[in-house]
Amino acid sequence: MNDEELFEKIMNKELTICETCDNIFEYIPQKLFCGECVKEKRKARIRKYCEENREKKAAYDRKYQEENREKIAAQRRKYHEENREKIAAQRRKYREENHEKILARQRKYREENREKIKARKRKYREENREKIAAQRRARYLANKEK
Ligand SMILES: [Zn+2]
Repeated sequence: MNDEELFEKIMNKELTICETCDNIFEYIPQKLFCGECVKEKRKARIRKYCEENREKKAAYDRKYQEENREKIAAQRRKYHEENREKIAAQRRKYREENHEKILARQRKYREENREKIKARKRKYREENREKIAAQRRARYLANKEK
């Protein structure tokens, strides 16, 4: 179709030019924008709405998560299963690159939670008395044989 034909079709209201981009599309009364632009505009509108309604969106997300706990957990499980290698590699990489940071964080946590950690250890010892005694005995016997 040459320019003249195009011009004619537009004049005859067979085709129209999008008001924001130069896409040409089939003429429909009241339709000013092409499909792409309509899609873009809708996306922009939703983005804007989300930005202006952060609280509402956060509440909605929370509600969605609560109502779809099982579904989300299943999706996450599926993703993990299908990407085991990838996730392990990412984790390894993160640990290697952030060795110092991780150690510092652990140190900080230990310092800030001394009492909590002590209590947890005490609780573990009380609940696993038998197991710990057995381990100790095994260690003792192993050393004796050396
Ligand atoms: Zn357009």
